[in-house]
Amino acid sequence: MKKFAALLTLLLTALLCGNALASEPAAKEHAAHAGSHEPAAKITPEQALQKLADGNQRYVQQQMTGTKLCALSERQKLAGSQAPYAIILSCSDSRVPPELIFDEGLGEIFVVRVAGNVVDPIILGSIEYAAEHLGSPLVMVLGHERCGAVKATVETNGKAEGNIGSIVSAIAPALKASPKNDDKALFVEGVVNENIKLVKNSLTAKSKVLAELAKEGKLKIVTAKYDLDDGKVTVIDGLK
Ligand SMILES: [Zn+2]
Repeated sequence: MKKFAALLTLLLTALLCGNALASEPAAKEHAAHAGSHEPAAKITPEQALQKLADGNQRYVQQQMTGTKLCALSERQKLAGSQAPYAIILSCSDSRVPPELIFDEGLGEIFVVRVAGNVVDPIILGSIEYAAEHLGSPLVMVLGHERCGAVKATVETNGKAEGNIGSIVSAIAPALKASPKNDDKALFVEGVVNENIKLVKNSLTAKSKVLAELAKEGKLKIVTAKYDLDDGKVTVIDGLK
């Protein structure tokens, strides 16, 4: 009987040690996903932008690790609080989900999505909440190629009916500011680019909270564009 108990103990020890060894590479890989779930206040805008660039590179190269940050242990760590290191204002387009294209998991990025990545008081309030109360040091206004909301604005000359009309009229200033181009596809891209720029400017023009945080150096705002073909996010107006 004693012999059996000893054998059982040996077997259990071997099993537990085996498990510990098996999980070691995964733990190392997770640690390599730099600064996961670090409080945002500890991260500079430069580091935040670098994390986004690194994540996008993993996505482009199809070497994603972000799902590790959706593990049960991560969910439990985040149940009581969050400290996302960046705020992403992006389009609702189903091909541009920020968590995937930046290869992130739970609690890492605060995402505000709306067709045409435009702003209104509710969108601004959401960004203010993340910047002021969660301490995120970076906002990225992320547009994308061949945006349907921008196309609709071009096709209706900035005047559409109903609720979609609200989105179109928010993009209309970019349409007016864009130089004419007989090539419709190129013209749409021009309006996409102009819209990204105008939205960035309106964040501080229309929000006292964001303007103050930016003035104090606690918040940086950058712009970027997503390429639907190769999956790359290119920073347009970066950190100065
Ligand atoms: Zn879009």
